[in-house]
Amino acid sequence: MLTRSRRRLAYLFTLTMGGILVTFAFVVYILFVRERLRNFDLDLKNETQSHVSKFKYIPNKGQYIIKYGNMQLESSLDGIPKGFEFACWYDDDKQPLEINYYICPPQNSVKTGFQTIPFNQYSANSQQWLRQLTSPIQNGNKKTGYIIVAKSLQPVQKNLAKLRLYLSIGVPTTLGIAGIVGWFLGGVAMKPTKRSYEQLQRFTADASHELRAPIAAILSNAQVGLLAPEDNSELPRQRLENIVDISKSMSALIGNLLFLARHEGRLNPKDLQSLEIVSFLNNLLKEYQLVAREKALSIIAELPSQEVIVFADPDLLQQALKNLLDNACKYTPEGGTVQLKMFTQLRRISIQVVDSGIGIPAEDLPHIFERFYRVDSSRTRSSGGFGLGLAIAQQIVKAHSGEISVESTVGEGTIFQVCLPLKKI
Ligand code: ATP
Ligand code: MG
Repeated sequence: MLTRSRRRLAYLFTLTMGGILVTFAFVVYILFVRERLRNFDLDLKNETQSHVSKFKYIPNKGQYIIKYGNMQLESSLDGIPKGFEFACWYDDDKQPLEINYYICPPQNSVKTGFQTIPFNQYSANSQQWLRQLTSPIQNGNKKTGYIIVAKSLQPVQKNLAKLRLYLSIGVPTTLGIAGIVGWFLGGVAMKPTKRSYEQLQRFTADASHELRAPIAAILSNAQVGLLAPEDNSELPRQRLENIVDISKSMSALIGNLLFLARHEGRLNPKDLQSLEIVSFLNNLLKEYQLVAREKALSIIAELPSQEVIVFADPDLLQQALKNLLDNACKYTPEGGTVQLKMFTQLRRISIQVVDSGIGIPAEDLPHIFERFYRVDSSRTRSSGGFGLGLAIAQQIVKAHSGEISVESTVGEGTIFQVCLPLKKI
């Protein structure tokens, strides 16, 4: 499925790039043609003007004769300047003036301006294109006639052919490269999706596994309870108590799963409020005095004397810190210490939960925030852990645009650090 999406992404990318490229190439080509033709026309006009200025129209018996110096023009070929295919002279009635006018356009095609015309002069196969300029000739204020000149467009055609060749090689090559880049980018774009997909799969498998075990336990307890003799009321009662315990644990698990699903992503700034974090932490710590006494743990607070304000959701932050403090108390043997520290840094506050407990092996540290991850599942399951506490804590801290990190040494203890921004998110 992911490979298909990747292929689709690459395909769409190539198609889009292809569309852009072809349009771009087309626009470049059109602009190039227009630019070349404009320059060509300008040259043609200048050359025609300088050519015309060398000739004279002499009125002769109601007609004109054309003279170049003292020489009278006998045929249109006499008056062809270098580089022109032909130069034809006409009177003001658009009648050709030369004898050899077979080469010249007829009277009805004398239309002022530029024209592109086909001209099969050299070979019937290779069609040559000419650029033709028809220009009126003024003698003072009087229009004395017209001249039509034509020049081969071959240099422009050659340039255009070269450009077409470059484009026809360049566009498919670039498209090929775009396809490869698209495939590569598709892979990069699919990576987070792939990771999320794998995480979701693992999560679903873990959640199902975690729910299957208590359901099996509920079933067996119920069956044993039902099989008990009628005069024995103690056994069913015991089994029912077991079922109650298991159901409570299941309910906690489902609550945690729901929590994770509901609080995905960043928090809405509207849900955040100014929180006096020092008093908040002091109150939180009071709740752990009893637990600490029961386990003979000493709880130490190292908090600033002055109040500090952060923007947070108090309920969520409490949940995250409780998960860390629960762990610290759970994984610290009797007689150990649990410290809650807080200090401000440049633009953030740092809250640390430090314990002198069993610690976490280095190889487990990178996975510790994963859902359902437990260092020693047999041990933690017996202590009622699902491996969701840290995942929830991390999700809450991230939702507050904060960071959570851990340092630990086996046998010495663990430090969880939560950093939260001081300013409004
Ligand atoms: P839950 O919190 O869902 O009830 P849990 O405590 O097992 O269960 P997490 O809080 O996510 O799950 O912790 C994951 C694992 O990390 C724990 O199983 C434990 O092995 C280890 N761990 C967490 N905190 C500590 C700590 N302070 N000291 C030693 N190990 C810890
Ligand atoms: Mg925990």
